[in-house]
Amino acid sequence: MKSSRSNLLKNGHQLPVMEKFYSLQGEGYNTGTAAYFIRIGGCDVSCNWCDVKESWNEAMHPLIFTDDIISDIIEKKVNNVVITGGEPLRFNLDYFSSELRKNNIRSFLETSGTAHFSGKWDWICLSPKKNFPPKDIYFEFADELKVIIQDESDFEWAENNRQKLKKECHLYLQPEWSVYNKIIDIIIEYIKLNPCWRLSLQVHRFLKIP
Ligand code: SF4
Repeated sequence: MKSSRSNLLKNGHQLPVMEKFYSLQGEGYNTGTAAYFIRIGGCDVSCNWCDVKESWNEAMHPLIFTDDIISDIIEKKVNNVVITGGEPLRFNLDYFSSELRKNNIRSFLETSGTAHFSGKWDWICLSPKKNFPPKDIYFEFADELKVIIQDESDFEWAENNRQKLKKECHLYLQPEWSVYNKIIDIIIEYIKLNPCWRLSLQVHRFLKIP
């Protein structure tokens, strides 16, 4: 019997893909690493400063067979894939992540930690959002915490999240891009006083690459 579209989506054999591109990771621990990006559509976190609002409505993005995404990645001969969104874990990513592993491709997941966890990942970047806090399980898995700083009240949010993490987790503060000039010096001073944190810049924006 043929699977319906909704079953294919539910089982992770299809995914709504907003865009795919090959570039350098511009943020956090893996900055500067060449990676193929898969941006999965759909997000209900509603950050007011979100720079990919067009990703929010998953129905706007074509459903692509996961096998075709994997074939495309293999054809590009890339070593690393960044899975981002939207919030990619709104979809079951068990199949996608297992196919990446089977083909020896490293997977870097970017998540707000708000959806059901699925998949096995080589690197998990948890980027928690105040208006929709992450589920507790994500603090066990995160390799990296990346907190977006829009104003000084976000430092308290960053520290609250830090306290829940395993101690090996790498800690990053990243200026929200639209207030970069206003906030960057404040973040630098905060990191000087709290050196467990590091600065994450959106290097791709300075380089004008995707
Ligand atoms: S979690 Fe990411 S995609 Fe979703 S609204 Fe926030 S910044 Fe945008």
